[in-house]
Amino acid sequence: MQTEVEGIVLKETPYSETSKIIQVLTKEYGLISIIAKGASSIKSSLRGLTIPFLYGKFSISYKENKLSILKTGSIIKLYGSKTKDLKLYAYISYLSELSYNVLKENNNLEIFEILKNGLDKIEDGFNPEVIKNIIEFKYLDYLGITPNFDICQKCNQIKDPYAIDGKIGGFICFDCYTNEIKVSSNYKKIINRFQNVDIKEIKEIKLSKEDQNIINNFLDEYYEKFSAIYINSKKFLNTFK
Ligand SMILES: [Zn+2]
Repeated sequence: MQTEVEGIVLKETPYSETSKIIQVLTKEYGLISIIAKGASSIKSSLRGLTIPFLYGKFSISYKENKLSILKTGSIIKLYGSKTKDLKLYAYISYLSELSYNVLKENNNLEIFEILKNGLDKIEDGFNPEVIKNIIEFKYLDYLGITPNFDICQKCNQIKDPYAIDGKIGGFICFDCYTNEIKVSSNYKKIINRFQNVDIKEIKEIKLSKEDQNIINNFLDEYYEKFSAIYINSKKFLNTFK
């Protein structure tokens, strides 16, 4: 079927001597694989469309659950190209790789908007770590491992949060507290905001560096413990800490 899709290139791999396969997160079908025949050649008009983090329109011959074929296309924008800041580039790489891994487990069409809006906000100068954490919280739903923040993870009772621990999987109450990271009682509110905010609607981010670190560490540990995802570019990202 000949059709036009809108999407973000998450990955590019060489195929044979001359061609490339790109993994594209599309608005219409979620993650699809597209072959760009001859795209390795300097003369190819498809060459400029197979770049990772390119957001564009692609005219393709679409084949469900198979390799689609790229005919032509146009660039809407290339994420990360405006910046010489390697750190921002590291965030874009990390989020693209994370999205690819989540899509492999759940090819949900909502993920396109989440990633696109997140990358737009990062490019607009919003705190990239907070945007990353918001996306990571949202992706937990698609991975089917949303933490339960209503109960203490040790006694399983509904209590006020006193501490938080990613390896344990959520909050710990005052009675169960041993040596986890202490949080204030408005933490449920902060986390609720992370989970439910519409990224596109974010106008400003008010969060102390301390709270930001606690959230980021929690997500790091939680993903490591409860998801099967391993992100290569995380090492690169961590060099900027
Ligand atoms: Zn408890």
